[in-house]
Amino acid sequence: MVDPSLQPDAGDALLAEADSLHEATFHAVARHAGHAPGRVNLIGEHVDYCGGLVLPMAIDRRTVVVAAACDQPVVCAVSDAALDDAVTIAWGDVATLKGWGAYVAGVAEIMRREGMLAGIEGVTIAVASDVPLGAGLSSSASLEVATVMALIALSEQQRSPEEVARIARRAEHEFAGVPCGIMDQTISVMGVAGCALLLDCLDGSTRPVPLPTDVAVVVADTGVSHALATGEYALRRASCERALAAVNAGRTAPLAALRQATAADVAGASMDEVDRRRARHVVEECDRVAWFAAAMEAGDLSTCGILMNRSHESLRVLHEVSCPELDRLAAAARSCEGVFGARMTGGGFGGSIVALVAEARAEAVVGELIGAGATRAFVTHAAAGARSERIRPDRARRKDESAS
Ligand code: ADP
Ligand code: MG
Repeated sequence: MVDPSLQPDAGDALLAEADSLHEATFHAVARHAGHAPGRVNLIGEHVDYCGGLVLPMAIDRRTVVVAAACDQPVVCAVSDAALDDAVTIAWGDVATLKGWGAYVAGVAEIMRREGMLAGIEGVTIAVASDVPLGAGLSSSASLEVATVMALIALSEQQRSPEEVARIARRAEHEFAGVPCGIMDQTISVMGVAGCALLLDCLDGSTRPVPLPTDVAVVVADTGVSHALATGEYALRRASCERALAAVNAGRTAPLAALRQATAADVAGASMDEVDRRRARHVVEECDRVAWFAAAMEAGDLSTCGILMNRSHESLRVLHEVSCPELDRLAAAARSCEGVFGARMTGGGFGGSIVALVAEARAEAVVGELIGAGATRAFVTHAAAGARSERIRPDRARRKDESAS
C-alpha cells in the first residue's frame, strides 16, 4: 500500500516553494504533500500501445503538490510554472477546463466521483516542479501522480500503487484528452531508486532492473516542441491496429496485441507497406528491450548502448517519429567519450534524447551536448517513485526563524 509517510523533509526546496505559494495564494496552510518524479524511457519506444515491453526509470526531478481542504465546492490550483494562470473551478465545471489546470482538477474530480474525497468540500492546491515541461520527461504524469498522492494524504486514504497510477492515467485520458498508455503513470508511482523498471504493457507486470553504479543517464533537450506528436501518435496507433488485424486475418487463435507477433508474422501478412514498417518497429523494439534488460543485469553496458542506437534508427527509419534535431543530438552524444549509446526518448518529433554514459564522464558530456545545440541537458540517476508526506506543523515557523 502507498502510505502517507511521516518523514519530515525540511531541506526540501521544492516543498518549501509549493508551501509558500499555497500560503501566499490561498492564505491557508497546507498540511499534506505529494511528490512524484518525472521519467525517462531508456528503451521501448512507441510500443506501449501495442502491449509491448518498455524500460523507463524515474528521474531525480519531481513535482511537489501541496493540498488543503477549503469550505467552497471548488478546486483552486496554482503552479510555479503558470503563476499568472491560477485556476478556480466549481466541481461540475472541471470538464470545461483547458490547459494545465485540467491535469490537477481532473485528478481531483475523478477522486471525488470515485468517493475518495468524502467529507471534503473543496481543495486548494499549489504545485512546484523541476521536471522540464513538454520535454518528453512526463511532467504531466508527475503532476497527476503528485496530485493523487497529496489528495490521498489529505483524505487520509490508502491506495495501492496500481490504483494511484490508474487514477492519474484516467485524468490524462478524460480531462487532458491524451490517450496515453500505462507507462508514464506506472513508473512515476513505482520507480525504484537505482533501478529501471521493465514494464510489460500487456499484463501490467513489472520487474526492477538494477543499473550498475558507475553509469549515469544524460538527458538533453532539442528545444523543439513536440506539437506534431499528438496527430502523428494517433496515426501510428492506427497503423499498428491495422497491422494486428492483418496478422490475425485467418488465424484460428488471434493475437491480443501486436507485441505477440513474430517477425515472420509481420513479413508474411498482407498489409500496407507503411503499416508493415510500423509493425516491424514494434516487434523488433520489444526484442531489443528484453535483450537490453538482460544486458543491463549482466553489467554489459556496451551491448545496452548498441541497442539504444538501434532503437533510434528504427524510430527514425521504420516508425518515422524522429526529426533532424533529435538525429543530430543523438549523433553528437554518440561521438562523446564515455557514451555507450544514445537515442530519442518520448513520443518524438522533438523533445529529448537519452544517453547512457560512464558516471565519470557524465558532467563533461552535458557540456558537450550544450555545445552541440541542446537547449538544456542534465545528468540523472534512477530515483524512487511517488510518496506522500504530512508537512510538519512547525515547518513554516522554522522557515521564518531561518530567514531571520
Ligand atoms: P511531458 O509530459 O512530456 O512533459 P506533456 O505535453 O504531456 O509533456 O505535458 C506538459 C503539460 O503538462 C504542460 O503543458 C502543462 O499543461 C502540464 N504541466 C506539467 N507539469 C506542470 C507544472 N509543474 N505546472 C503546471 N503545468 C504543468
Ligand atoms: Mg506527458
